[in-house]
Amino acid sequence: MEQTLLQIAYLVASIFFILSLKGLSSQETARQGNLYGIFGMGVAIVATLFNSHVTQYDTLFITIAVGSLVGYILAKRVEMTAMPELVALLHSFVGAAAVLVGFASDASMGHEGGHAASALYASEVGVDVFIGALTFTGSVAAFAKLKAKFNFFGKTYWVPSKPLLLKERHKLNAGMLAASIILVIMYANGASGEAGSGSLVLMSLLTIIAGVLGAHLVLAIGGADMPVVVSMLNSYSGWTASAAGFMLNNDLLIITGALVGSSGAILSYIMCKSMNRSILSVIFGGFGAENDAPAKELTEEEKAELAARTVNETDAETLSDKLLSSKSVVIVPGYGLAQARAQHSVYQLVKILKAKGVNVRFAIHPVAGRLPGHMNILLAEAAVPYDIVLELEEINDDFPETDVVLVIGANDIVNPLAQEDPTCSIGGMEVLEVWKSKLTVVFKRSRNVGYAGIDNPLFYKDNTQMLFGDAGKTVDELVAQVSAK
Ligand code: NDP
Repeated sequence: MEQTLLQIAYLVASIFFILSLKGLSSQETARQGNLYGIFGMGVAIVATLFNSHVTQYDTLFITIAVGSLVGYILAKRVEMTAMPELVALLHSFVGAAAVLVGFASDASMGHEGGHAASALYASEVGVDVFIGALTFTGSVAAFAKLKAKFNFFGKTYWVPSKPLLLKERHKLNAGMLAASIILVIMYANGASGEAGSGSLVLMSLLTIIAGVLGAHLVLAIGGADMPVVVSMLNSYSGWTASAAGFMLNNDLLIITGALVGSSGAILSYIMCKSMNRSILSVIFGGFGAENDAPAKELTEEEKAELAARTVNETDAETLSDKLLSSKSVVIVPGYGLAQARAQHSVYQLVKILKAKGVNVRFAIHPVAGRLPGHMNILLAEAAVPYDIVLELEEINDDFPETDVVLVIGANDIVNPLAQEDPTCSIGGMEVLEVWKSKLTVVFKRSRNVGYAGIDNPLFYKDNTQMLFGDAGKTVDELVAQVSAK
């Protein structure tokens, strides 16, 4: 009876998780989707509490309380721009948990009250530890690369976003994968004999090798491919949970893990497509990354030529006149908008321009910012209506008919080099073709490069103007100018 009720509760939770994913697929229903997810998780936790296998309530409540507190503080304190790091770190927890559960299962094998040490069960434990360790170190490596700068005892350390491309890395990866498979087989065979004997050594070896493999796979991925890494680790964490579900014989964990794993894999595929990357090359860490070259060193001549290149500058007053005489304006938000927290001011600008009869829309690039959906979250926070927020493929053909494009804190996603130079680090990535509009105004603080580390020829075009300064300040000035006219 208890098992039946538990299964029903798990089924209900799974249905809510599916509804949650469906809700999250569009901005209008995302909030609802989140609520479904929270409810599903609530059902799952309560059902687990009533499971008769759960006996140590004191430990359980203390860990839930500590976990909730840490989660609450992290979520409250995290800057929007640091979300990708936080997400990567959270994925590492899933990996670490899976490894710990694996070791705990190993310890309970063969002991009184422990699991029967069948080869099948032991191989589940082995696979779980393998994926868990891989996810853990991969996520920690991604966290370090995304955060880039660490301060320890007054000293600053940098983690380069450039890929770590060891000469024989593919052979090394293949070797580590083969060694892991052999260890899982040895572990599974050993489990059917004298349970527990020598298994700890095998498990520890497996953890170390899978851990090195996970970190190495992610370190070999170049800066421009990091968005895919974040969603891929999301997928890995799902498969880890699913593997743990098989090990613990928990249907809910299997279903939830598979949902997270497959949705993360689909997102990775979509992002790879929009960045013109092969998903396999990203998964296997740096396949074809030899071409991933911001490493093309500029000659002294080229450097001098670059420094001598002039850009057209504008100011808030001139731009406000231009905007008020325009029919169609498109705003391209990027990472700098999040950094400057200018989303509320930008929406204020949109409202004023719309009230004065200008058609204003937003163009969202799939990898804008530092997190999948980063710009959508920012604009939703400022209550920008969804019907004026368009995806790249919905708006890219409209630029030739656009009077003014405001590129606010974006760089790589509007870089024409992606189309002009296939060998550069963003070569082949789809970009917003803002240079085809009548006038493009770029809001940024300097001529500095973006995340991919390459110069942007857009800045030097005749129909481009630069509005230098912190986007928070420049947008506020523009709002003041436009509303005064
Ligand atoms: P970029 O990093 O290319 O450019 C952002 C620009 O914003 C910079 O050139 C910077 O120039 C400017 N900026 C920063 N702070 C401010 C500020 N306060 N005010 C005004 N401008 C500012 O961002 P994009 O959004 O164009 O492209 C995203 C990049 O990040 C892509 O390369 C993508 O691959 C990568 N990425 C994306 C992830 C995702 O999931 N979306 C995850 C990880 C990486 P300046 O310093 O001169 O002001």
